[in-house]
Amino acid sequence: MANAINRARTTDKEYEKLADHVPYVAEDDCIACGACEEICPEVFTVNESLGFAQVINPSGAPAAKIQEAVDVCPVNCIHWADEPE
Ligand code: SF4
Repeated sequence: MANAINRARTTDKEYEKLADHVPYVAEDDCIACGACEEICPEVFTVNESLGFAQVINPSGAPAAKIQEAVDVCPVNCIHWADEPE
């Protein structure tokens, strides 16, 4: 609900910029350890059936908290969309 409200208040240009700075998981490299979900469950969840973590809400937590999950990933497979792997 809050995200819908935030999205409505965000201009197209701001949203475009935001969309460029979202985390994603390189699924082939993920070992499904669950560390990202433990630190930031608002954004990451491990899909047990698929065997890798997924981003469920890219703007669900402050960037600093998402960065903590990026930093703790043991195989460095979480990246920001606007940064090189
Ligand atoms: Fe996968 Fe990295 Fe998350 Fe572990 S911390 S579940 S390896 S994305």
